[in-house]
Amino acid sequence: MKITTKINLLTTVWMLCILILINFVVYISFMKTTINMEEDTLFQKAGDIVNEINTKQSQSEIEDYLSEHSYIRIIEPRNKIVHEVTNDKILSKKIKGKYTKIKQAKTYLISEEHGEEQVLVVRVPINNGNQFKGSLEIGERLQGLETRKEILRAILIFCTIIAALLSLLGGRWLANMIMRPISNMIKTMEEIEKSGVPKTITIQNKAKDELQTLVKTFNRMIDRIQINMDKQKQFISDASHELKTPLTVIKSYANLLRRRGLENKDLADEAIKAIHSEATRIQKMTDTFLDLATLEKVNVLEIKEVNLVSLCKNILKQFKDVYRREITLHSDGFPIMISADELKIKQVIIILLDNAMKYSKDKIDVFLEKNQQHAIIRVKDYGIGIPEGEINNIFERFYRVDKARSRETGGSGLGLHIAKGIIKLHKGEINIKSKEGEGTEVVLFLPILE
Ligand code: ADP
Repeated sequence: MKITTKINLLTTVWMLCILILINFVVYISFMKTTINMEEDTLFQKAGDIVNEINTKQSQSEIEDYLSEHSYIRIIEPRNKIVHEVTNDKILSKKIKGKYTKIKQAKTYLISEEHGEEQVLVVRVPINNGNQFKGSLEIGERLQGLETRKEILRAILIFCTIIAALLSLLGGRWLANMIMRPISNMIKTMEEIEKSGVPKTITIQNKAKDELQTLVKTFNRMIDRIQINMDKQKQFISDASHELKTPLTVIKSYANLLRRRGLENKDLADEAIKAIHSEATRIQKMTDTFLDLATLEKVNVLEIKEVNLVSLCKNILKQFKDVYRREITLHSDGFPIMISADELKIKQVIIILLDNAMKYSKDKIDVFLEKNQQHAIIRVKDYGIGIPEGEINNIFERFYRVDKARSRETGGSGLGLHIAKGIIKLHKGEINIKSKEGEGTEVVLFLPILE
């Protein structure tokens, strides 16, 4: 069963239950108060008759007190009727006279051709000194009450039907209002499922309620999916573009080798060298892609205490041994402790040193210091520098200032992007100061261990 139908049915049934309960209370209270009022009137009448009997010492004029469909009786002890006046013989036949010493009122249900009818009987004692002892009984059909009961019943039934209809319509309107954004969402999701293209829902509901929050959250989620899909597409196209160039070089040299390489040793050497170098480049690139992929996963860090001074010393020693460049570490020698993933921080420092070596020929300086909150690592070179307008772009994926030069140096444009990602994961910061022709300084800030 649809939620709208469920809400509709439930509200209507609930409404009907409340109405039936209210109707019941109204009906009972109406009957009670009306009968009480009738009782009061009859007692009043009985009182008047008793007074008259007592003062005039005669029962002859009690006929004047008869109302429509009623009887008046005077009864002696042992239920003996001594005097009776009536204008409804059937009624007086159906109700037996009863002597009473106390004032009492009673309703009787008598059967008639057209159904049952209520009769109200009141009895009051007549105490006229020592002369007469008996009671007065007045019986009266509650015909007015029957008609009013019928009218009330009709009104209540009519109102209940109207209320049920209104509740049905109201319930449908309410259910539709609640379900519209949800139905829109379902429709959009089905469209997304069919087409595979993420789509947001237009917000029609201006009220700041839970439904609007639901739609907004859905839209935010779709936006993020869209951004991720765009990123993925961009990455695939950038990566294939990057891989295409070395693969074309490999293919051309392989062709050359196949055609003429075996006869010409120099050509073969050149081709093999080129193929080897391009293959190495592809290998490096795929390693970097893997680094990028792990960076995008959550909780990738293996955090432990790291002494930056000894870490930098080790890296610099390796670089100096392999590349024979002048790289100097400036530090006061005191340990600088941070909480970090050692391998990842090492990767960042290597990226920065690698860039400094690729884009400069002179010495390289590495400064290690700390302030109250951060450990600060500065990698400074005195090379070609970066044009001012390009500084903001160099953290972008695959961005290289001088494409031709980067190819020579084997750069992929991913190093700084990865470095920034790692530093962000450590809640740190990476800044670049550079002047074209003078050199570049990359500054890392990493939260210090208290
Ligand atoms: P790449 O692998 O090309 O070096 P990076 O992301 O590490 O990729 O760097 C992006 C670009 O920023 C480089 O292509 C280069 O143009 C520029 N760059 C980075 N570091 C330096 C530097 N120390 N000196 C001059 N240019 C730099």
